[in-house]
Amino acid sequence: MKTQNKRILITGGAGFLGSHLCDRLVSEGHDVLCVDNCFTGTKNNIIHLLNKPNFEFIRHDITFPLYLEVDEIYNLACPASPVHYQFDPVQTTKTSVHGAINVLGLAKRVKAKILQASTSEVYGDPEVHPQPESYWGKVNPIGPRSCYDEGKRCAETLFFDYHRQHSLKIKVVRIFNTYGPRMHPNDGRVVSNFIVQALTNQDITIYGDGSQTRSFCFVDDLIHGMCLMMNSEDEFVGPVNLGNPDEFTIHELAEKVLDLTGSKSKIIRKSLPQDDPMQRKPVITLAEEKLGWTPAVKLEQGLKHTIEYFSKILSSS
Ligand code: NAD
Ligand code: UDP
Ligand code: UDP
Repeated sequence: MKTQNKRILITGGAGFLGSHLCDRLVSEGHDVLCVDNCFTGTKNNIIHLLNKPNFEFIRHDITFPLYLEVDEIYNLACPASPVHYQFDPVQTTKTSVHGAINVLGLAKRVKAKILQASTSEVYGDPEVHPQPESYWGKVNPIGPRSCYDEGKRCAETLFFDYHRQHSLKIKVVRIFNTYGPRMHPNDGRVVSNFIVQALTNQDITIYGDGSQTRSFCFVDDLIHGMCLMMNSEDEFVGPVNLGNPDEFTIHELAEKVLDLTGSKSKIIRKSLPQDDPMQRKPVITLAEEKLGWTPAVKLEQGLKHTIEYFSKILSSS
């Protein structure tokens, strides 16, 4: 895929997805600048890259301006777990909105191509199922999830306005639930919660009756799709859905994790958080047609890798 060495900025590069993206771009020989304030990410995720000559880590909060010279930008900075993005909701909106303005301003100044990590949350609690990119979504503007959902929607608006008004080269991907090694054990999202609970023989916490659905994508597939998007023809700006269309209820996920870990944990019920989407599944025909991308890793296979990772870190802590 690589044609030449580029200087690439990854905001949120010390997080779950960002660190995998750093790995990939460093291994391709690019000069990678990882900018992160370590709110949910950690230096541990990128520690193996710190001694590489083509990798640099900068601790910085993207709600403040940043001046760098780069060819490409992947904008991933933003807490993604509901627990974390609701911890300081004003900062979450600032990260999405002020952060986008700063990285777009940077891209404009240095004429860099810029990709936004948007989200399936722009569809909210969807009335159209599965969700194509043409669906405008059903989002509560004033609920506890709004800081994330509306922040990401506004970031998309900014990307498209910088594209139309300032001719910026933009790329927007809407990422659906992605899981894998390097999720934080206390991340709070369902896959890491269930695996950690199963491995430590704690109760598995299903919120609501477990009939709500999600479609889970393994991290390697997602990163591959993101890179294909960055390197696709300039005319294709998106938004494009990236996710695995295999849909499961949360109850099915719990059963699978119990089965794969051989855990004796019990399933318990907790209340369903407000505005929790009831169903979510991407239509990925656009990604298939435009990027030749389709996810390859089945849930069971991806869960096995993730369980292996958590077993290792839990036994060493
Ligand atoms: P994550 O929380 O592991 O990573 C986010 C990173 O951004 C962290 O390293 C965090 O410290 C950093 N960050 C947060 N606020 C910042 C700020 N103001 N300045 C600088 N750095 C900041 O989450 P992730 O799953 O790796 O998500 C990465 C991106 O992908 C996010 O933008 C998220 O919205 C998007 N996304 C992820 C998923 C998913 O399922 N993983 C789904 C949809 C969208
Ligand atoms: N910005 C930045 N780095 C740069 C250029 C701009 O962080 O290299 C920020 C700066 O804070 C600015 C924002 O990006 O406010 C938007 O830049 P733009 O040029 O679009 O707008 P303006 O500078 O006119 O406000
Ligand atoms: N969930 C759950 N138990 C948990 C964590 C989450 O049942 O310990 C549910 C949550 O209510 C939601 C689904 O799993 O219906 C996915 O939640 P997650 O936080 O992973 O992502 P999102 O809601 O943003 O898709």
